[in-house]
Amino acid sequence: MDTKETMDMAGKYLTQNYGRQPIALVKGKRCYVWDADGKKYLDFVTGLAAGNMGHCHPAVVAAVKKQLGELWHTSNIYYTQPQAVYGKALVESLYKGRVFFCNSGTEANEAALKLARRHSIENFSKERVDIIAFEGSFHGRTLGSLSLTGQLKYQQGFGPIPGAVKHVPFGDLEAVAKAVTKKTCAVFIEPVQGEIGVKVANAKFIAGLAKLCADKKILLVFDEVQTGFGRTGKLFAYEHFKVKPDIITMAKGIANGFPMGAMFAKEEVAKSLVPGTHAATFGGGPIACSGALAMLAEVKKPEILENARDLGRYALIRLNGLRQKIKTIKEVRGLGLMIGVEMAHPCAQVVADCAKNGLLVNCANQNTVRLLPPLDITRQEMDRALSILGKALASS
Ligand code: PLP
Repeated sequence: MDTKETMDMAGKYLTQNYGRQPIALVKGKRCYVWDADGKKYLDFVTGLAAGNMGHCHPAVVAAVKKQLGELWHTSNIYYTQPQAVYGKALVESLYKGRVFFCNSGTEANEAALKLARRHSIENFSKERVDIIAFEGSFHGRTLGSLSLTGQLKYQQGFGPIPGAVKHVPFGDLEAVAKAVTKKTCAVFIEPVQGEIGVKVANAKFIAGLAKLCADKKILLVFDEVQTGFGRTGKLFAYEHFKVKPDIITMAKGIANGFPMGAMFAKEEVAKSLVPGTHAATFGGGPIACSGALAMLAEVKKPEILENARDLGRYALIRLNGLRQKIKTIKEVRGLGLMIGVEMAHPCAQVVADCAKNGLLVNCANQNTVRLLPPLDITRQEMDRALSILGKALASS
């Protein structure tokens, strides 16, 4: 089936809730994908920061293939070895705590929201359930996560959104302090806001926020759904800020593109999740956990994280060089291999021009070109991508 036939079929039978590029992908290897007409692209989207180790990484493929022939699904009524083994490996890569497995980022945030409230009700009062989140944030599309998401456009048209969430400007510690009341139980933050166009939190702000939360016994929740698993050049972005959040949510890169999510919580917080309080039928299934275990071993390699930091810094320098010459580039931002190039106008044409020339990038918040390449790309591949992007930016 070629691209046109695929698009026609999808147009006829699928709900039309995605603004898709006119590209039908059929195959992927490392940082490359091929479309249904045989065209090859450098993939700087990687499934929106999900395939951090590149398409079809051999170690992850082998682990998933092996598990496919052994056991697929049992539900969480039973124990399975892959879940226990991966849980140990993940927690040992973080700090003392426990992990709950689910299937996506929004589910991880729903779990965090429920846990934060339950912990607060048990330890303080039943009124202490209010949340502070940030303007411009994105935490997912289910109603609980949508209440955390600080962008009206995602909430509009969906009736009452569960309340008790106050949104304050990202990076404004005074505004957070003012928003805190006796009823505040948690603060949710993305250390790097992705969907709004890659906005990196200031280290002083995060330090102040962590202190404020500790002083007031408010839970600090890091949404690392997009920043996790090496994306920013550390295994998790909290490591850049030298804080240990009470709860961390994760998904996307966790199993290198195989659907999975997780919520990690410090021991004293996690204990509020007693049997029957929360669950996910498919959460932590044997296939996902086997893939995630192989992924974790790869992404933790020091040379991979170093490559993400080095090539991220290199890309920022080169892109800032372009900004001096191309007036339509307003700002270049990023951490590791999570990079945004904000334009003075919508960037849809830049995305289309890049695709025409064999590079996939995506547009965040209408006007920011977002680059999310796999963490093991080479300097030559980065140079090639920047050269295609540079030409597209120059003619925009
Ligand atoms: N949180 C953040 C920071 C995200 O970037 C996203 C998705 O882009 C989500 C949550 C929601 O994840 P999912 O689409 O897997 O539900």
